[in-house]
Amino acid sequence: MNVPRYTEGIPAIDHHSHAGYVRPGQPVTGVDHYLLEVAHGHVEGRVPHADYQRYMSLHESGDETGAHRLAVELGIPDLIRESRTFQQTSVHAVALREGCEALYGPVPSDRIDEVSRHARQTDPAGLYDRALLLSGTSAVLTDIPEIDSEVWPHERYKPIARIDPYLYPFGHPRWEGRGTDAPRFRRIFWRILQRQLEIAGTSLPTTLSEYTDFVLSSLARRRDAGFVGLKIASAYVRSLDFVRTDHATAEAAWHTLRTGADQPFDGREGEADLEPAAHKALADHLAYAIAEWAVAAGLPMQIHTGFGHTEPGLRISTANPLLLEEFLGDPALNTLRVVLIHGGYPYSSNLAALAQMHGNVRLDFSWMPYLHHHAVVRVLEEWLELLPADRVLFGTDTGSPELHVSATARSRTALDRVLHAGVTDRLWTVGQATWLAERVLHRNLCDVYGIDL
Ligand SMILES: [Zn+2]
Repeated sequence: MNVPRYTEGIPAIDHHSHAGYVRPGQPVTGVDHYLLEVAHGHVEGRVPHADYQRYMSLHESGDETGAHRLAVELGIPDLIRESRTFQQTSVHAVALREGCEALYGPVPSDRIDEVSRHARQTDPAGLYDRALLLSGTSAVLTDIPEIDSEVWPHERYKPIARIDPYLYPFGHPRWEGRGTDAPRFRRIFWRILQRQLEIAGTSLPTTLSEYTDFVLSSLARRRDAGFVGLKIASAYVRSLDFVRTDHATAEAAWHTLRTGADQPFDGREGEADLEPAAHKALADHLAYAIAEWAVAAGLPMQIHTGFGHTEPGLRISTANPLLLEEFLGDPALNTLRVVLIHGGYPYSSNLAALAQMHGNVRLDFSWMPYLHHHAVVRVLEEWLELLPADRVLFGTDTGSPELHVSATARSRTALDRVLHAGVTDRLWTVGQATWLAERVLHRNLCDVYGIDL
């Protein structure tokens, strides 16, 4: 099928990227790292829980010798090899190969990790710039706690601040589920909060009012430093069911949690003996306080919806975007510019219904372009047919320059297919199809964030 390239020559702005992000304490790696992350899910489902936890804590602490010794004992290298064999046909592995070929040329597969590691270590920002150039991407919004604007100029790399670290000032109740993903998010949120307290030159305030003042001034400082929007990634650690909670209830929760936080157990960083109901009440209260501040400050809010990574942790049922109805239905937040991100898989139709019923809600299909092939086309068909032209935004959801290239190329191809089908069926004129391509690739984002191309 010869599909016209409606998207050709139209610049893209990536609504959800992680450009510039390196996990604290982790060295810069080559692309094998992405396959290894997926393989960990395969391993987690095949070795006893306690052994896996022991192995991952060695791995995550950087003790590679200890991790390797235990891995051999548990048969993990064979499981990783097996996972890599099975991963070959996934869109993720295909997209990784496509991106490497585009950036590094025809490198033999056994050398690609080394070549990509070298390129990433030598000049990470230069490599990302090259990925943007190859993709026709003029800028990315990057979900990152801090960014050096000398290395990553704001002109092309615009930071987004997660509000989650502020929602859990006392950490989280003990994690007793499978996997290492949810505890990792909790730890990262915890560390970012400690860092923001450090930047503000303060320790954790004793009262909720003082704490709320700290949170809002910390966010204001970050906005003044160039952050263009906020994000909620809390689906990884709790339900999306954010309920408006009054100050008195939140204050009572604050006191309950303070006592609990004084009784730590021999657990993970950022976790304590906390009462789950109080933990939720305080986070709910703070989320609304921040959202109201975002309305006044004119900052858009991204919200993670739908499934998570390849290890258990995030509960898919509590990442259902319909759980946001309370939050989205709040009269004080009716002009908050919300973008529900990641295509919300497997709730993509629920996202469309929410956007249809809330004029302030937009959707992005980031993450989908390098995980799905036909499903991206199906979702875009559904969204673009139902919704007004101002609602759908393109995004990659990656910090990998390789995946940026392939995800952008794949998004352009999917969009071309959907637009071509619409024109063929006389749903849209050629002019409207080109207009929609521009709306999705950058114009809607520019309008939401008030930025120019
Ligand atoms: Zn992301």
